Amino acid sequence: MIKGIAAAPGIVIGKAFVYREVFFGFDERHIAEEKCDEECEKLMDAVSVSKKQLSAMIEKSQAEKKTEQADILFAHLAMVGDESFIKEMLLLIKAQHLTAPAAVRRTVEKFQGLFESVDDAYLRMRMSDVHDIGKRLTNNLLQASTQGSGMSAIGAAAKNSIIVAHDLSPSDLIQLECASITGLCTEIGGRTSHSAILARAHAIPAIVGASGLLEAVHTGDTIILDADKGEIHTQPNDHLLSMYARAQQDAKAKMAWLKSMKNAPAKTQCGKKEIVLAANISDCKDCDAALNHGAKGIGLFRTEFLYLGRPSLPDETEQFNIYKKVAEKMYPEFVTIRTLDIGGDKQAECLPLPEEENPFLGWRAIRICLSMPTLFKTQLRAILRASAFGHIRVIFPMISGIAELRAAKSMLADAQKDLDKEGVAYDHGIGVGVMIEVPSAAIIADLLIREADFFSIGTNDLIQYTLAADRLNEKIAYLYEPQHPAILRMVKFVADAAHRAGKWVGVCGEMAGGEDMAAILVGLGVDELSMSAASIPSVKGAICHMTFDDASETAKEHLQIEHAGDIGFSANKAF
Ligand code: PEP
Ligand code: MG
Repeated sequence: MIKGIAAAPGIVIGKAFVYREVFFGFDERHIAEEKCDEECEKLMDAVSVSKKQLSAMIEKSQAEKKTEQADILFAHLAMVGDESFIKEMLLLIKAQHLTAPAAVRRTVEKFQGLFESVDDAYLRMRMSDVHDIGKRLTNNLLQASTQGSGMSAIGAAAKNSIIVAHDLSPSDLIQLECASITGLCTEIGGRTSHSAILARAHAIPAIVGASGLLEAVHTGDTIILDADKGEIHTQPNDHLLSMYARAQQDAKAKMAWLKSMKNAPAKTQCGKKEIVLAANISDCKDCDAALNHGAKGIGLFRTEFLYLGRPSLPDETEQFNIYKKVAEKMYPEFVTIRTLDIGGDKQAECLPLPEEENPFLGWRAIRICLSMPTLFKTQLRAILRASAFGHIRVIFPMISGIAELRAAKSMLADAQKDLDKEGVAYDHGIGVGVMIEVPSAAIIADLLIREADFFSIGTNDLIQYTLAADRLNEKIAYLYEPQHPAILRMVKFVADAAHRAGKWVGVCGEMAGGEDMAAILVGLGVDELSMSAASIPSVKGAICHMTFDDASETAKEHLQIEHAGDIGFSANKAF
């Protein structure tokens, strides 16, 4: 059995599909001089296999009228056959006796360096193309040496398989036909990485940080993924298989019962307080799951996902159409649209960011938007225009001080003025919120709330910044404690500041979607909990079973606790 971190709950029994992203995962080796010609031939074979693969993919994309995708593939095809690119790789093999994969990697790094240094956004964008080509060539080289059949594309995962990988980026996941896979497990990553969040959004049981996985599991193996406990059973015996099959049935029955309460309000016993249970979404398609699970609004629309996996930025019209559709689908419920929160573990090909030592502490989210006014204004105009078609609120991510909030609001006011001049309709009373995810913002919540209509606490980041524990790093996952007294006290401080000003406070971090944690958050005074749609029924079940007075009492006790472990939650529980 392999232990990992439970990231999205559920139990699955199924066949594994091992996804190997091998590009950077090998040591550089040298070969004897007499082997160089053979190595050059291998490289040229990989070039021609890659060309064939790309041509076939172009044909398919064109047939499916996916023109943007076809354009990228055309660029890849041109680059893989580029004379200077090939010459460089051959030279490294002949002059430095490098293996073909090592020559590919060195060449890719050199070309990426060249693109990085130019002051042209289009050319910088080509950096990720070179990376992709490098990956394809390397995979073809390594797979050829192990009789494989081309790139281990994640999209090639068999239906109903459990994806097993070293790591999965959010863009890997958006390539996946999520409906067709049943589980995910990775060797690295944290519970609040955006891949884990996507898995929860699609109700796909997931385990992250399970080291040694790729050595133990092969494509086609039957495995059991117990994502409630964070355990992966490889080579399970019949007894274990039947035990888990029963557990799966029980879980299904419980979920069906919880879903039957879809339209019931999330009221504490005796009806003292009703909590708004909302859904987090990253796409218009997610609204169906939100409505099916009884969401009373969208507490967080992560708009940056509209920017991932595409070569060009979405323009105002494209964004307007999406926001409008979401607002209409959810009406009369509210939709909280978060402005672009790119950076950290969300890297968009259409907006290449310079490599940074500490991307989570660097140029991301509102910091990027404020320094790229055209990009920001485009999004703000689209959000405002869509606000005429439903109940939209706008929220700014990663606010760390009052100046940023004022600057963001001033851009919003500019966009409003422009629309007024153009005679375009929008909701003049649109609510403006602040994400509380940086400790400095939490500590000045009383000042920020004077200039905002509501708060939403982004605990995923608030925890990592407060506890100095990278949310992606499985090695220090034990420090990433949502129940840490510092976090609970901050939540209380922020909720009190909002309430003193007569305003509203929600939590949209993953902590909101855990039954145990949700109960504490309610006790701390939070008005709204926003989470993956699939978590809504169980959180509602927990709220309906408690009294508000008990929840407040328990929360009070937790605020006095010295150490998170004393609360008695399992450190390895999925939210
Ligand atoms: C958060 O930080 O809690 C949050 C909701 O934002 P994200 O997870 O997208 O960083
Ligand atoms: Mg965040």
